[in-house]
Amino acid sequence: MKHKKRIGVRVIVGLNKLLFRLIIGMRGLLRIPKPKLQSLFIRANNRLVSRYKVKVPAEELLLLLPHCLQYNECQQKISDDLELCEGCGRCDICQLAQIRKKYQIPAFVVDGGQLALAVANRGNYRAIVAVACEEELEKGILESALPVLGIVNRRPEGPCRNTKVEAELVERAINFFLEGHQCLKESIEVISMRRNNNY
Ligand code: SF4
Repeated sequence: MKHKKRIGVRVIVGLNKLLFRLIIGMRGLLRIPKPKLQSLFIRANNRLVSRYKVKVPAEELLLLLPHCLQYNECQQKISDDLELCEGCGRCDICQLAQIRKKYQIPAFVVDGGQLALAVANRGNYRAIVAVACEEELEKGILESALPVLGIVNRRPEGPCRNTKVEAELVERAINFFLEGHQCLKESIEVISMRRNNNY
């Protein structure tokens, strides 16, 4: 049974790569801007992942957050310990730290996709919930051997600075993997919805 599940996950990952090539192929034909294309890919990935029943225990679900979510003047070194957030409310890390604690899942705040992959590869994880910009999510989803639900951050101050994410979306994605049932269609639609990032 476990073996069957692993094959299923490999199918998801393989389909993602195929999907990406198809979307890239469409780019030339339809002249779609790159960020929009990446957004389409992330959305399609989330739908694909949501169709497959992946149930993982809390300790095998990895939450990856970008460093730019943290308020840029915050002095707390929260990279691998969200508990160090003092909860001042200046950034969304505050709520995300509470969610991490509620579900007792491993979480890391990372600088960029390469570090995110390194974190994902060194643990015994079976699924990932990742928050990032379209660029980093696209790379992460394509290079990961694990199913990823990707949530695009909002960037009211431009790229890489004081970015935002709705904690509720992150919680929905976590619940999807922990509960292991077909996520409500609306949940995936909400998780995948295009952020208002001016492109
Ligand atoms: S909410 Fe936490 S991480 Fe954000 S600025 Fe305050 S102490 Fe720092």
